[in-house]
Amino acid sequence: MNNNIAADVVKAFYEEYQPLECALEYGGDAFKLLIMAILSAQCTDRQVNAVSAELFRRFPDARSIAESEPGELEKYIYSTGFYNTKAKSIRSCCRTLIDEFGGSVPFEMSDLLKLGGVGRKVANLIRGDIFGLGGIVADTHMIRISNRLGLVNSKNPYIVEKTLSPLIPLELQSGFCHRTVVFGREICRAKKPKCGECFLKARGICGGI
Ligand code: SF4
Repeated sequence: MNNNIAADVVKAFYEEYQPLECALEYGGDAFKLLIMAILSAQCTDRQVNAVSAELFRRFPDARSIAESEPGELEKYIYSTGFYNTKAKSIRSCCRTLIDEFGGSVPFEMSDLLKLGGVGRKVANLIRGDIFGLGGIVADTHMIRISNRLGLVNSKNPYIVEKTLSPLIPLELQSGFCHRTVVFGREICRAKKPKCGECFLKARGICGGI
């Protein structure tokens, strides 16, 4: 049953939305996506994009961050919120990148999870968008929408990821996740979802709430 719903949702998303890339403007650079994904916690993608040009001009790689003066990184990321915590995570992340991975971003889940500030959500984003390995990014939109569609019955990101992963073809997972974010922002919003305008309702996939 859930297999059928998931297939219908994926089909609808791919028919309704043009190819979508990550809202974070990282220019195909794994290091930039990693840092920007850490910064996006509790912050809009737009604000992360706004600070990124200056940030990466000053800090083009992991070493430049790891060796920066205390307090300098914070000035560049201040406007993304929780900047002290984020700076600490990013420094730790960059130090591990240098010490264990030659300054490059790894692709194994277990290696990504060694990096400061990186949980499964960020790791799946990196694996999917950079390495083409797929991965369900269980962010707030994915959790909310998959529950509303009856695909999942849990708010736990790990359970959401593990439940959805076998239902979505690996090669479509990244595109599916990006489309889910747009769908969640435009139609299936947290408050007052636009069920009357929803193409999933029009297709008989969801009855609405
Ligand atoms: S019908 Fe409503 S609840 Fe269902 S997917 Fe569409 S917007 Fe979300």
